[in-house]
Amino acid sequence: MTDAAIILLSTTYLNVGLKRNLNPLAGTEFWSKFAGFTKNKQSSNYYTMILPIVAYGAPILRAVAKDIEPDYPGLPKLIEDMWETMYSSNGVGLAAPQINKGIRIFVVDSAQIFENLEPEDEKYPDAPGIKQVFINAHIKSLGGDEWAYNEGCLSIPKIREDVYRSEEVTLEYMDENFVAHTQTFIGVTARVILHEYDHLEGKLFIDYLKPLKKRMIKGKLDDISKGKVRVDYRMTFQK
Ligand SMILES: [Zn+2]
Repeated sequence: MTDAAIILLSTTYLNVGLKRNLNPLAGTEFWSKFAGFTKNKQSSNYYTMILPIVAYGAPILRAVAKDIEPDYPGLPKLIEDMWETMYSSNGVGLAAPQINKGIRIFVVDSAQIFENLEPEDEKYPDAPGIKQVFINAHIKSLGGDEWAYNEGCLSIPKIREDVYRSEEVTLEYMDENFVAHTQTFIGVTARVILHEYDHLEGKLFIDYLKPLKKRMIKGKLDDISKGKVRVDYRMTFQK
């Protein structure tokens, strides 16, 4: 079977699966409602590459990532590659440790969520979302009430669980031109940012689960770390 046929089949599978899902927008990074619909819209001066995503079990996902300098080698291409990798796996965010780099960069496109909202879908206060690069991000403060959302992660395929996070986050960060910003984010955008930020701190969404839930998914996590999982994007496994 060709690659295209495999992707088509798995997209169909995901759409069928979603009909049984009570929250069709479920998932933070792995957001499949319109799989194949919001692919890479970048215009780029580079030949971008889709990078393999590091699967659960790799030590880099547990390390604290380091700040970078403006002259970090190949930074513009790295950012383009991260966008390409994120869109090709139908993600709404991607952090550098997930492409095996222990540096403080993540990208977020929460605008995709709003572009595809349907009238019956849950509303979020941060419309129309953002598309942004975050470099050397550090949280200044968290605010609002904690709220639950069904999250997924490109590094932990096929597992989704409700996670409680703050409604609001204020971050200090640099944009892709190394201009410093201090900015507050809310709603589903804050949710995606907090998920990606955790990757810089060596934290994963499954860390928030209660002990019983953790025990229930342990077998699945072991399988993922050994490469015993089928995904329609490139991954590297610890083995
Ligand atoms: Zn993730």
